[in-house]
Amino acid sequence: MRIEFSGAAGTVTGSSHLLRVLDKRILLDCGLYQGKDEKERGNDVFSYVPSTVDYLLLSHAHIDHSGRIPLLYKRGFRGKIFCTPPAKALAEILLLDSAFIHEQDAEWENKKRERKGLEPIEPLYRVQDAEKALTLFEAVDFGEEKTLFEGFRFRFLEAGHMLGAAITEMFIQEEERKVKLVYTGDLGNQGIPLMKEPETVEEADFLIMESTYGNRLHPDNQTEQEELVHIINETYHRGGNVIIPSFAVGRTQELLYILNEFQESGRLAPGVKVYVDSPLARKSTMIFKEFTQYFDEESQEKMRRGDYVLEFHNLFFTETVEDSMELNRTKKGCVIISASGMATAGRIRHHLKHNLWREECSIVFVGYQAEGSLGRIIQDGVKKITLFGEEIAVHAKIHSFSGLSGHADRKGLYNWVKAMRKGPKEIFLTHGDLGAATALKELLAQDGYNVRVAKNGDIVPIRDYVKLVPKIEETDLEKFTVATALSRLRKKEELVRYIETIDFSMVPQEEILKEIEKILKKQ
Ligand SMILES: [Zn+2]
Repeated sequence: MRIEFSGAAGTVTGSSHLLRVLDKRILLDCGLYQGKDEKERGNDVFSYVPSTVDYLLLSHAHIDHSGRIPLLYKRGFRGKIFCTPPAKALAEILLLDSAFIHEQDAEWENKKRERKGLEPIEPLYRVQDAEKALTLFEAVDFGEEKTLFEGFRFRFLEAGHMLGAAITEMFIQEEERKVKLVYTGDLGNQGIPLMKEPETVEEADFLIMESTYGNRLHPDNQTEQEELVHIINETYHRGGNVIIPSFAVGRTQELLYILNEFQESGRLAPGVKVYVDSPLARKSTMIFKEFTQYFDEESQEKMRRGDYVLEFHNLFFTETVEDSMELNRTKKGCVIISASGMATAGRIRHHLKHNLWREECSIVFVGYQAEGSLGRIIQDGVKKITLFGEEIAVHAKIHSFSGLSGHADRKGLYNWVKAMRKGPKEIFLTHGDLGAATALKELLAQDGYNVRVAKNGDIVPIRDYVKLVPKIEETDLEKFTVATALSRLRKKEELVRYIETIDFSMVPQEEILKEIEKILKKQ
C-alpha cells in the first residue's frame, strides 16, 4: 500500500490523495486549486492517470475538495464516487455551478482571443462533464460500513465541518498486513451553528490530517457572534451597509442561523434587512432544509418548537441579476451575504465595488482567506484595489472573524488527536500553509507523535510496518510490554526503522528487548 500526496500538501486548496491498495487505486477527494495555488500549480494536470483510478471517496462537497471531479470524468475516470447523502446533494449544485463558471470564463476569454486573432481555448470542463460525473455518485450514510473490494472497507464519521462532511475511516488488509488509515477531510470547529461536533476516532495506524489553523487559536465563538451583531447594528446606525463575503454552502447557512437567533431575540436593529445574494447560496439553503435530520440537537430542538432556524423576518433571497443590481443602489440598512467567500469571483465583487469606498460601510470576513485572494488582500489592509478595471479606495471598516470558522483551531486539532485511544504510528499533515502545518507538527511531535508535513508529489510506501498477527490484535496494546517500550522509543529514528522490520510472531519478546538495549547503548 502507498499514499501519493497530489494536492493540498503544503497548501490549503486542491485536496487530493491517491491510495494504492493491492491492484486498486482509491482517490481521497479531487479538489480544485484556488487563488495563488491555481496560478502556481494549475488545475489542468493530474499527477495520476484518471482512467486508472477505481474509486473516489469524497469527504465533503466544498469545491476545494470536489472541484476537479468533472475534469476527472472528462479524462476517463468511470469509477464510483462515495460520499454522505447531504454531501451528494450539495456536490450536485456545486459541481454544476463550477462547470457553468468555467464555461462562462472560457467564453469571455475567447471573445478577447478572437479579436486578437488567436485560437479559442477550451474550458477546464463543461456542464455536461459535471452532469455525467454526477451519475457516478453513490451515497453512504454516516456510520455505515461499506466494502469496496476484498481488503478495503470504509466508514464515514461526522466531521462537524459542514453539512455532510465526513472523516473517513479505512480498514485495509493486504495479505496478512492490516492497516487502519484515517483521513480527517476538513475537521470542524467546536460549536459551529447547525453542525454536530466532530466525532472522535478510537484508533488509527496512519492519519492524514488537515492543518489549516495549526498555528492559530480561534477566539470564543459566542463573543464573536455578539461582536458581529454589534457591527451590524452600528453600521446600520451610521447609514451604511454590511458586506459579508461568504461561502455559499455552509458558512452562509451558519450566518443565517446566528442572525435568526439575534433577530428573534430582538437584538438585531429592527430596520436591518438581510439579503442572501447568491443563486448558489439560495439553492444550497434549500438543500439544508431537506436534510435537517443531520443538524445538531440544538437546532433540531428549536425546529421542534417551531423556530425555523434558517428563516426569519427581513431575510430575503435575491433571484435575478436585476435584484442583485438593485442592491448596488441601496445605500444603507442592508446586510449583504454574497459569494464567493474569498471574493475571487461572483456577485460579491460588485458589492465590494459599491461599498468598499464608503467609510460608513463595513466589510466582514467570516471565513478563511487564502493567500493571493482579493479577500486576503483587503484583509491585509491595502488602501486601494482594482476591480473591473477601476481603482477603488478602501475606506469601509474591515473586520475579520476566525471564531466563526468551519475549521478546528490548533487546540481543536491537537485535542482531536489526543482523544484517540491508540494514537497513529505516523501522521501526515495536509491542507495547511507551510507555517500552520509545521507549527502543528512541532506541537504533536512534543508528545512523541511521528509527524510529517506532506509535500506535493510525496509518495509514502506503507509496507514495512509490523505485521499485525492476531495475538497482538487481541491483546490490549497497553499491557503489551514490547509495544509499550517501542511506542516510548518512537523518536529514535534508527530504532524505529529496525522495529518496523520485526515480525512479532516470529521473535520472542525478550530477544527484541535485548536488541533494543543494544541499539540504545550504541547511541
Ligand atoms: Zn471544506
